[in-house]
Amino acid sequence: MSTFQAPKGTYDLTPPRSATFLAVRAAIAAPLRDSGYGYIETPGFENVELFARGVGESTDIVTKEMYTLTTKGGDQLALRPEGTASVLRAALEANLHKAGNLPVKLWYSGSYYRYERPQAGRYRHFSQVGAEAIGTEDPILDAELIILADQAYRSLGLRQFRILLNSLGDKECRPVYREALQTFLRDLDLDEETRRRIEINPLRVLDDKRADVQKQLTDAPKLRDYLCDACKAYHEEVRALLTAAGVVYEDDEKLVRGLDYYTRTTFEFVHDGLGSQSAVGGGGRYDGLSEMIGGPELPSVGWALGVDRTVLALEAEGIELDLPYVTSVYAVPLGEEARRVLFGVVTGLRRAGIAADFAFGGRGLKGAMKSANRSGARYALVAGERDLAEGVVQLKDMESGEQSAVPLTEVAAELAKRLG
Ligand code: ATP
Ligand code: MG
Repeated sequence: MSTFQAPKGTYDLTPPRSATFLAVRAAIAAPLRDSGYGYIETPGFENVELFARGVGESTDIVTKEMYTLTTKGGDQLALRPEGTASVLRAALEANLHKAGNLPVKLWYSGSYYRYERPQAGRYRHFSQVGAEAIGTEDPILDAELIILADQAYRSLGLRQFRILLNSLGDKECRPVYREALQTFLRDLDLDEETRRRIEINPLRVLDDKRADVQKQLTDAPKLRDYLCDACKAYHEEVRALLTAAGVVYEDDEKLVRGLDYYTRTTFEFVHDGLGSQSAVGGGGRYDGLSEMIGGPELPSVGWALGVDRTVLALEAEGIELDLPYVTSVYAVPLGEEARRVLFGVVTGLRRAGIAADFAFGGRGLKGAMKSANRSGARYALVAGERDLAEGVVQLKDMESGEQSAVPLTEVAAELAKRLG
């Protein structure tokens, strides 16, 4: 194994691709920030209890995918596999739900860890941007979140994604459905592990990715037929609000998602250019989670969008983002005095908000111009002894190749004008 190899299932973000990741995070966050969501940041690890209780003892995430560790002091911790449980824990700890109006609207962005079988689009370290609206039961809130995720993806130029929508019922109607489903599943030809799952979390069986299992599920009882009137009305309202907003979705009665805490509205964003790892984001309502982790009743709704898969989706659609912060001006000094003078000019440009870089290390003209080219800069500033003696620098347009002498004192203003 090479010393310079990232751990299995992980990869590094390096320029230039890393710029796309930053831009995707910013694009997902922008509509949230414009809609009253405040930024929250929680630790990369939590007490393992939080996820066991919050995400669910029977989920793949907790049984197979969680990185757990015992500290030297004997604490049982887990690297966070997802964001919702942590955000809710932090909101409760800070009493945010008592501090002002409900819902408490929060957004986050960070690294998550799952011990999974690595493949394209599935990693052991990945990043998400997420949003949670805590403490209010209101179909408009569910609709708001789905609309904002749709807006974020559209702002990136993505078009080949679809929204899958379902309702998982509540504590009144889901138990009735659960029993009907269990009765149906017990008669099927399934392996040992899946049979165990029928007893612990039967809805998860609906999410089985294997074709032979899916074939047997064709006649499974549908949750839709078991929804209580309140859940039905709630779901119809969410659907109507999405339609009114022009957001297209597909009803998917098999959509259950991999976390135990979801109730009522559940949704997933899938992208058709990604092969089998097609989910780019997902979320839903989690009215029971606060109580599951020992808090008061706080009906809530949220989502998490995967940054890694969103970048893959952009690549699949051939979308190149218009990235800010590329170097606009590249300075090429010839000689010691020019180095000092041009570095002064570069510093001034930067302070004026113009992105500028410099040919370091005292290289010759040819090598330095190559660097200028590679930087993508629109303009190069070249100066040697003779230019300095005349108080000018050569301003070269890297696209047209045109070059003209500009007085040192006017360089910043001239560049500001040309760069608009
Ligand atoms: P999947 O069904 O693909 O395992 P999930 O239901 O486990 O996804 P969530 O827990 O809802 O996913 O996380 C939300 C988003 O985070 C996913 O839609 C995906 O974009 C991203 N994500 C989840 N797990 C991974 C992973 N191992 N690698 C990369 N991205 C991931
Ligand atoms: Mg998963």
